[in-house]
Amino acid sequence: MSSPLLHQDTVADLMRDVTAATAAGAARIAGAQQPHEPAEHRDMAGAVERIDLDTPLGNFDATVDELDRTWLRHAVWFHHPRTLAHLNCPVAVPAVAAEALAATVNVSMDTWDQSKAATAIERSLLSWTAGRIGFPAAADGMFTPGGTTSNLQALMLARDEALEASGQQPGAAPRPVRAASLRILASAESHFSVVTAARILGLDDDCVIPVPVDETGALSVAAARRTVVDLREQSLTPMAVVATAGTTDRGMVDPLPELARLCGEHGIWLHVDAAYGGGLLVSPTHRDRLAGIEHADSVTVDYHKTWFQPVSCSAVVVRNGRTLRHCAHHAAYLNPADTPEPNQVDRSLQTTRRFDALKLWVTLRTVGPDAIGGMLDTVIDLAARVADVLRADPRFELVCEPTLSTVLFRWLPPAGGPAPGDPDPWVRAIRRAVWDTGRATIAETEVAGRPCLKLTLLNPETTLQDMQGVLELVHETALPLTEHQNTGKACA
Ligand SMILES: *Cc1c(COP(=O)(O)O)cnc(C)c1O
Repeated sequence: MSSPLLHQDTVADLMRDVTAATAAGAARIAGAQQPHEPAEHRDMAGAVERIDLDTPLGNFDATVDELDRTWLRHAVWFHHPRTLAHLNCPVAVPAVAAEALAATVNVSMDTWDQSKAATAIERSLLSWTAGRIGFPAAADGMFTPGGTTSNLQALMLARDEALEASGQQPGAAPRPVRAASLRILASAESHFSVVTAARILGLDDDCVIPVPVDETGALSVAAARRTVVDLREQSLTPMAVVATAGTTDRGMVDPLPELARLCGEHGIWLHVDAAYGGGLLVSPTHRDRLAGIEHADSVTVDYHKTWFQPVSCSAVVVRNGRTLRHCAHHAAYLNPADTPEPNQVDRSLQTTRRFDALKLWVTLRTVGPDAIGGMLDTVIDLAARVADVLRADPRFELVCEPTLSTVLFRWLPPAGGPAPGDPDPWVRAIRRAVWDTGRATIAETEVAGRPCLKLTLLNPETTLQDMQGVLELVHETALPLTEHQNTGKACA
């Protein structure tokens, strides 16, 4: 290849090759009995490590072939109906094409002078999402690489608002000293990125106070209220309450209206982590589950989870756009304060930044929000039907009613069998054994301190029959484990 840079003929040729590889992948999923190849079939890491990066293949076809052998052929395809282990979705095809377009133009979103209408597209999507949330016109937001970063940015704004409200100027003295009195309330089932954010923000290690949940997994408002009062009595400052709209395991939506009331009474920033449940914003039938989200100060939405967008695509949306000023730095070479057009870098924790908004824009313009929300509704309804199947089947125990698209359950060792009784020690062994068959991927987690199996449904084309097949697979895989081993070994 003479020059790898963009030319009219080379870009078309290479895109054709990659399109062919993509189509081959899609054909493979369509015909596949296996959602993935069992790990022990192949030394995947070894095959990559043996490639000599100093010796290029010299042409793109050969590179795609090599990639196919080393990775694509053995990848976990998230479009497969029995890929059920992770909160990673099958993707809308217009979004995939948009990714290629964004990379080809290589736009960066930091300043208007490099992005032009791309900034307008991004800002339009943010204000549209804010409208779906029910925020006032002063709302604004920012695209980020994921919920982890969205939560970090939201909590940074909350921290700086709290410091400013206490009469201290952010940036005037070492933060850990001044921030030592700040506390964040989040449910015991909130995402770990809340704790990560607090650490990055220089807050005390114990500043995130885990508020207990009720038996459904929803944050207890009474406990939150008591905690706020206790903190005030100790002259500590509750700087934010993090409500989760769609907890990662149970899919639970914390009581948003009650938490909004609590935060309103005490002047506390309410952040809603809707990384998972954010897709409900476009749901034709389940939007009411997010009632109260309009009272938040900030909201995290992961478009790369329940909006069927390729990784990565997330946003933090804020009620009052002015709070984003806490992110702003003005560099003479990049974004002087007096430029008339909006420079998105003024609102972001990143400088050079991908045009992740484009894929969402292209998807919405092509199929519209109802199509996205409809796909989420389909998987929510499927989760409810899978729960019905589990409830009616004595071989299984449904751990809790599904609220979004996850189903938590246990396989029960048969009474009278060689190892009846406690299902808990078998969870990990079953999860591994199911993966090893190559026929499905499922997850494991813990609820109320007890292990269980987890199905994460995100594929609207997965049928109840597919799911029944997976449950049969779980049973068929689990039974020999109890027959061949005793409980103690299964745990090891
Ligand atoms: C997935 C998830 C996150 C983290 O988001 P990433 O996009 O993986 O960084 C945060 N909160 C909740 C509730 C999540 O489910």
